[in-house]
Amino acid sequence: MPYVYAFDHKHRRPPMEMKDLLGGKGANLAEMTSVLGLPVPHGFTITTDACRAYMDGGWPDGLSAEVSKHVRRLESQMGKRLGDADDPLLVSVRSGAKFSMPGMMDTVLNLGLNDESVKGLAAQTGDERFAFDSYRRFISMYGRIVLGIDGELFEAPFERAKHASGVTSDADVPAAELAELAEEYKAIVARELGTPFPQRPDDQLRGAIEAVFKSWNGARARAYRIRERIAHDLGTAVNVQAMVFGNRDDRSGTGVGFTRDPASGAHGAYGDFLINAQGEDVVAGIRNTLPLAALDEQFPAIYKELMAIFARLETHYRDMCDTEFTIEQGKLWMLQTRVGKRTGRAALRMAVEMTRQRGWKITREEAVSRITAEHLDQVLHPQFATSDVTVIAKGLAASPGAAVGKAYFTADGAAEAAAAGDKVILVRSETSPEDVHGMIVAEGILTARGGLVSHAAVVARGWGKPAVCGAESVRISGASFTSGGVTVREGDVISIDGTTGQVVLGEVALTAAEPSAEFTTLLSWADAIRKGRMAVRANADNGPDSANARHFGAEGIGLCRTEHMFLGEDRLPIVRRMILADTPEEEHAALEQLRVAQKADFIEILEAMDGLPVTVRLLDPPLHEFLPSTEELEIKQATVGLSAEEQRLLAAAKVWHEFNPMIGTRGVRLGVIKPGLYAMQVRALMEAAAERVAAKGKPRVEVMIPLTVTREELGLARTWVTDAIAEATKDLRKKPEVTIGTMIETPRAAIRADEIAEEADFFSFGTNDLTQLTFGFSRDDVEGRMMAAYIEQGLLKRNPFETIDQTGVGELVRVGAERGRSTKPTLKLGVCGEHGGDPESIDLFYRVGLDYVSCSPFRVPIARLAAAQAVITHRDRGGAATAIKAAQSAARVAARAAGPAKAAKKAATVKKAATVKKAAPAKKAATAAKGPRGAARATRKAAGRSR
Ligand code: ADP
Ligand code: MG
Ligand code: MG
Repeated sequence: MPYVYAFDHKHRRPPMEMKDLLGGKGANLAEMTSVLGLPVPHGFTITTDACRAYMDGGWPDGLSAEVSKHVRRLESQMGKRLGDADDPLLVSVRSGAKFSMPGMMDTVLNLGLNDESVKGLAAQTGDERFAFDSYRRFISMYGRIVLGIDGELFEAPFERAKHASGVTSDADVPAAELAELAEEYKAIVARELGTPFPQRPDDQLRGAIEAVFKSWNGARARAYRIRERIAHDLGTAVNVQAMVFGNRDDRSGTGVGFTRDPASGAHGAYGDFLINAQGEDVVAGIRNTLPLAALDEQFPAIYKELMAIFARLETHYRDMCDTEFTIEQGKLWMLQTRVGKRTGRAALRMAVEMTRQRGWKITREEAVSRITAEHLDQVLHPQFATSDVTVIAKGLAASPGAAVGKAYFTADGAAEAAAAGDKVILVRSETSPEDVHGMIVAEGILTARGGLVSHAAVVARGWGKPAVCGAESVRISGASFTSGGVTVREGDVISIDGTTGQVVLGEVALTAAEPSAEFTTLLSWADAIRKGRMAVRANADNGPDSANARHFGAEGIGLCRTEHMFLGEDRLPIVRRMILADTPEEEHAALEQLRVAQKADFIEILEAMDGLPVTVRLLDPPLHEFLPSTEELEIKQATVGLSAEEQRLLAAAKVWHEFNPMIGTRGVRLGVIKPGLYAMQVRALMEAAAERVAAKGKPRVEVMIPLTVTREELGLARTWVTDAIAEATKDLRKKPEVTIGTMIETPRAAIRADEIAEEADFFSFGTNDLTQLTFGFSRDDVEGRMMAAYIEQGLLKRNPFETIDQTGVGELVRVGAERGRSTKPTLKLGVCGEHGGDPESIDLFYRVGLDYVSCSPFRVPIARLAAAQAVITHRDRGGAATAIKAAQSAARVAARAAGPAKAAKKAATVKKAATVKKAAPAKKAATAAKGPRGAARATRKAAGRSR
């Protein structure tokens, strides 16, 4: 395989599909040249293969010869020679990886200039000033980028030259002065490097190519890839291209153009250009650019040509493109194109409009595939209404959305101010769990240190709260910070934008998060695609959240955490009374009080989700979480002393203290110790359901037992639940619909899912605990402290708490699903927890056959989109997942048809729940289902994907 391809090489495939090999820039240059026949300066691409070979073992054998051959060809195409003293060829050397990595490596322009060829350039163009300006630019650019010399060293002499010649504008420095500058620059290089500036164009070229290769592993590039989740082993391509000059004269210029507005999505070309300027000048913003429309006035013929090219690009790429172009003495050249980046709003508008326009069209599935979670995130959160803001600090865009509030520097300060009715931004160096009460009340969070997986970032994302993290210029001292020369004191208003990482002094107007009509349209398409394949539920613990979730499109509740109902100020004392109870009577009384309170909550939730399934998890956390901290009480004891009540609390807290509460007495284990607790919860729930039935509602209740590890445990828990159900509904004629299931959140439960399924109507994978227990990571301990280091050093590709670990934890989910269904084909499978709102994880959940995902309400639209994308992806890839799904539903149909399973299903509803032993019918059902499931396995094998 060659290492080098000319832009006009006839590839067998469209070059635009060969980004792996040619890089994005190279692939599109080749596409424009060889497929579209657009005016692109000649050139060639050194492949990513060459870069990978270089990283493995230095400059690859044969690469020099191939580069020389292509340089000779380029020379003959251009009728000029590199380094020629009469009419030299100049080239640019441009990096271009598969994914665009802005700022990773700068491009070297004007390569090929030396002491001889600069004279040739002057003679040919009749413009000495232009020639020496190009030379001095080249030496400093090459010196900085390739030779690693501090760029500032070149600036002082330039300022001096300007001063000496009495001019203020760069463009007015006379030729002689520029020629002298070139000499001075060369001297700087010689002094800094100990060797002279390379004069031979071949050496210059080799140096530049090597510098691009090396830049791939530079710190900047690595950091960028970690952030963008780009693999480190892709390598970059290098493009060598004949120079065209936008800085020749006033019939020349350079610009960037989009085929549609990338901010709003509106039809019509959009962009900027500059007359008499070279590439970087437009982007660098050193000179004021003109809007593209002005090109029409000044160069109407070129404008027309450009618009025709834009139309062709859109038709060809079937999407909005961005471009770089240069005009040299009245001739238009295209220097770059690609499918352009866009805002969320623009992405939605373009995707929907592109299904409907005349000419070319995309399908609805394509439209759905083009939207990303980030796009939706952007439109679901408020943004700065204007980009005309003075940024005093820039940090990581850690959690999307913009917020305005008064700066507070401690969690207590923030909490107090918020209680007094102020909107607050919590500003900390870093946050820890001790700051949570301040984070809860804050509109947004700003930290000076910490990355995208720092505590502040993780917590803020979890809550959908804007956050800017790691804003390094922010120097906090006491109750103020300085940044960008500005001091912000406690109580001063600041604005932050967690989508861009900007921090602004004062109040910036925000646009409301008001999803457009296109948002609704696109998500309705997504829903149609995933219908019957993967449902989306939400995690919610109260009526308003449930209603909100439904508004976002949730099709039920996948996790209602009942402990949240216990933590309210009015409830906590009752819970404590229950824990402290000395006699069964006392305990009973406390439980009764809790029952009444919980029932009211359940009624609200069931009402908000009427007709949709609601999974209620019985109490999960260790009891000591409801008790005050022993430390605090002990301090108080030693100082002011404790009341009788407090003494009892302290004693209880000590009794319930655990070394490792996460894997201590919690979940169903707690139920075993305090069986009255679960019975009370189920009673409250069933009474609520009964009231809903009486009110002509349609409650669909799913009772979920947490942290089960054995069949026996679940069997026992099931009896408490069924007894309580029977008791609570004994007088009802019309019984509410209810099923009983468990969370699968330990490796053992996943592995023995076949046994556990005998006692369960459904499983919900608790992938957060499953991740903790599979890795042996205590999330609260490792995420803040070591996760960043693990990711930076490549020990983990992702934070497994955000994106499921596909091959470890994901494998346990697959095994759990498969084994559970082998016992009970009708077993309903879902997932709750943060992973349920993460697109990559959703893809895995779909592949392994889960029926639904459940996530926080504001992630629901993202989950709806991601579920549809998973369906599309796996249909496109040969339909294996569809086949599995089809086989599974066939299995279920078969199972249902087998009769006994029908009874099993009915039994799952309350009527006979207390008396049913499910194992026998389920086994029959499994037998009935064997055929289709075997077929599913075969299909999966055939598709070459075992999981
Ligand atoms: P980036 O990826 O940072 O945009 P590019 O390789 O596209 O880097 O180049 C930087 C600038 O130099 C762009 O404005 C580009 O148009 C300009 N440029 C690159 N190659 C040439 C060339 N052969 N002739 C003229 N301008 C060029
Ligand atoms: Mg570019
Ligand atoms: Mg759990």
